[in-house]
Amino acid sequence: MVKQINWQQILIQCKNNIQKQIAPLLKTLNQPQPNLGIGAGGDPIKQIDLAAEEAIVKTLKEHKISFTLISEESGEKKYGETPNENFVTADPIDGTTNIDRGIPFYATSIAVSTKPILNTIHTALVTDLPHDITYIAQKGKGAYRNYQKIAPSENTSLEKAVIGMDLNTYRVKEIAPKLSSIIQKTNHIRHLGANALELCYVADGTIDAFLDIRGKLRATDTAAAWLIIQEAGAKITTPEGKPLNIKLDPKQKVTFIASANPKIHKLILNFLRREKE
Ligand SMILES: [Mg+2]
Repeated sequence: MVKQINWQQILIQCKNNIQKQIAPLLKTLNQPQPNLGIGAGGDPIKQIDLAAEEAIVKTLKEHKISFTLISEESGEKKYGETPNENFVTADPIDGTTNIDRGIPFYATSIAVSTKPILNTIHTALVTDLPHDITYIAQKGKGAYRNYQKIAPSENTSLEKAVIGMDLNTYRVKEIAPKLSSIIQKTNHIRHLGANALELCYVADGTIDAFLDIRGKLRATDTAAAWLIIQEAGAKITTPEGKPLNIKLDPKQKVTFIASANPKIHKLILNFLRREKE
């Protein structure tokens, strides 16, 4: 018999253990850091990323859970006797550069699914680590921020909107023109440097939209926030307006438009379409 697992409680334990594990490392960031090679997602591994990942694995092992870990750092790893029962997709630390530079905006992101496919995710957690704010969603049960139910913004005016976009790519000359009319129309463009958390900001109405059309962001960074967005009642699609239907794989890349409500979503998609023509 498949045992019942209280995933919400376990993910909260994971994030508590991450906070404990990284606390001493945060104090030694100004000292030289060891070279730990390149992670499965393609970025250099930092001690703090590994400590956070180890905290997740240790917590799940303590609960004797069999699982396949799909992580930005170690790639895909199987644990326990029946690892195909549970898939745990994690970006142990999203926003490592912010940590390095002392910008208090970084998160941990963990999603649990029955298959290595985005739309089978049933439980998700994103925690804003420096502020200890936790977003949680369970399929069909809504999305919560520190246990308070959240809903996206009802704003439908692009002029008044606060829109996040990630333009962090060497292909900026190709990407930026596609977004230029949205930038022109909106008075408030932001990029804060931890995409999982910025997506949660769309879910709870802090911002009105977040766009990433670079083709550079990983599935591991997006998985948990995807469910949080859906359960909050916000929208997330491909830049063409189709459902995101991606494999959960450390190398899988994703492009998306996330927005607060169908009206503002449509406005943004129309602007993108027009730039293409
Ligand atoms: Mg990371």
